[in-house]
This record gives sequence, C-alpha cells and structure tokens, in this order.
Amino acid sequence: MTTKKILLIHTGGTIGMQASERGYIPVSGFAQLITERLSHSHHAALPDFDIIELHPLIDSANLHPDHWNTLAEQVIRQYEKYDGFVILHGTDTMAYSASMLSFMLQGLGKPVIFTGSQIPLSELRNDALDNLITAMLLAGFHPVNEVCVYFNGRLLRGNRCCKVKATGLDAFDSPNFPWLGQAGLHIELHPRLFLAPRSPQFQNPTFNSQAVAILPIYPGINAQSVAALISNTDVKAVILRSYGVGNLPDENSEFIEVLSQAAGRGILFFNISQCIQADIIQGQYACSTVLNEIGVISGAEMTVEAAFCKLHYLLATCQSPAEIRQQLGINLVGEIDTP
Ligand code: ASP
Repeated sequence: MTTKKILLIHTGGTIGMQASERGYIPVSGFAQLITERLSHSHHAALPDFDIIELHPLIDSANLHPDHWNTLAEQVIRQYEKYDGFVILHGTDTMAYSASMLSFMLQGLGKPVIFTGSQIPLSELRNDALDNLITAMLLAGFHPVNEVCVYFNGRLLRGNRCCKVKATGLDAFDSPNFPWLGQAGLHIELHPRLFLAPRSPQFQNPTFNSQAVAILPIYPGINAQSVAALISNTDVKAVILRSYGVGNLPDENSEFIEVLSQAAGRGILFFNISQCIQADIIQGQYACSTVLNEIGVISGAEMTVEAAFCKLHYLLATCQSPAEIRQQLGINLVGEIDTP
C-alpha cells in the first residue's frame, strides 16, 4: 500500500489555544503538541503528515477575507504534493471559511477537511483529539472530493454547515442538507450525496472586505439605520436576513423606499431566512411580494455563511452584475439544491 500524506494547516482557534490571564489565546508550537498527543494513538494507522502554521495564528473571531487567500494559496500551491488537507480552524467562523474555500477550490479531487474543537487539545478532557484524528483519517484515506467540516462525529458539506451550539461538543450541523457521513463505531460515508467529480477550477481572487453587508430584519427597523449601512459606497450586496420564508415589514414604507432606491442604484439584495431550517418563498405572503417587485434575489435554503461567501466570491470573479445575478441562482458546489 502506498503511504498517504496529508498537510495540516493550523490557523489558530480553540484546538491549539492555551489559557492566559485574559482568556484563551492561540499559541504557536502546536506541531509539537500534536506529535506528543498522537504518539499515544495508533500512529501507524494515521497518514503521514506535515504541519504548517499561519503567522500570526488567529482567534477565528478575527478572521478577515484576506485569510481566505492565504488558506486557498496553501492548498493550491501544494495540491499535487499531498493526498488531502486538514485545516485546523476556530469554530466561530469555520462555516464561513469552509464555505468560501468550497467556492475558491471548485472541482477538488481530494479532501479538504476543516476541524477544530470546543476544548483545547492541551486540556486533559477535550474533544480535540478525536476531531483531529478522524479528520486526518478522512483526509488521508477516504474518497471525499470536496471541502467539508468534520466535528464531533459528523462529516458535513462545508457550505451547508453552521455553528449551532456555543458550548456543546456537537457544535456543527447542516440544517438543510443531510450529513455526508458520520463517525461512530465505524466511519460511514454517503457517497450518493458527494459532489460529482469534475476538473479543478481554482480561483484565488482579491476580495473587497466591505463589499457584502448583512442586514437583520427586526421589529421596529428604521429607514435611517438601513440607509446608513448602505451609504458605504463599497457595499455592493446586502443579505436581508428576513423572517420565516422571506418576510419583512412591508408596511414600513420608508424602509421599503430605502431598499427600493438602493436596488435602483445597483445594490444587490439577497434574501436569506433567519430560521435555521429555511427556505425562501418570496410572495407566499403579501408582505414579501414587494421584494419581487424590487428585484431582490431569493437565497433559497442557503446558510447565511454560504450566502455571504458566494456573494463575495461572485463580486470578486464575475464580469457583470447580470452574471452575478445569474450565478446566484445556480448550484455551484452543492450550496443550494438544484431546482
Ligand atoms: N474563539 C474561538 C475561535 O473561533 C472559538 C473556537 O475555536 O472554538 O477561534
């Protein structure tokens, strides 16, 4: 059997953190801790691995779109050298990074598995060791050709998952798409759910970090605060986090007028539900019919993280607003159900 070799890319996050006077902080030198902890495991059953660290390591709450370029660059540059990749990442924004890498690394022929933990590997009792070991096995030995998150026994499509628990060890779920696999007594995968193989089409574009804004709808929302949000001329697209199947207060005419004028100036509005298990049906209720009239695009059942990253990706790679609108409705990498 040929030896498999994977690359671990450590970005920071709880998995490699240590306690400090100000709370948990990322510390370098994780490679040594991993090697130490894995020496108690059945090392021969693991793929060979190299490990690199981001400089500086981050708490993923500090993630910035530039970090996606760094991550994608590492995978693209070393793509031929390794059989798979594990990205160790903080849980706070892991769903954003996994979503974005799925768009940047379309047509992957190898696994790119994000994982992390709720308790650091340096603690006696932790969820880090199992997440790490299983992610390594998935990246080294399993025919997964896409960006996934592995966490607490669940293998999830990267652009379908979200962090659903702040403290529970089962922190991630995929509310609108089945799990790609689960690790219990055995690792069981569901290949019928995997993306169809296709040739790699990797892109590592420059992002404008201000280009996408998120606007949660809430009772009493007022036109002025919405106008302030979109007065930043760098904002090109706004995710409306609407109620239920895409509803919002249509009787607030000043608010609707601000949306309508902004849409007329070319700002693109993308409708995503505040519900975790979601679908958008604009016009199901009269209060959302106005969105069809303004030209708001339905985000269907996409997670807010996938919607945010898809907008950033398309704004950075498409040639025209018409192309962006058209691509938003297309299933690029399994982020929405194919109509
Ligand atoms: N704040 C941490 C981070 O996202 C939380 C975690 O990793 O669980 O980096």
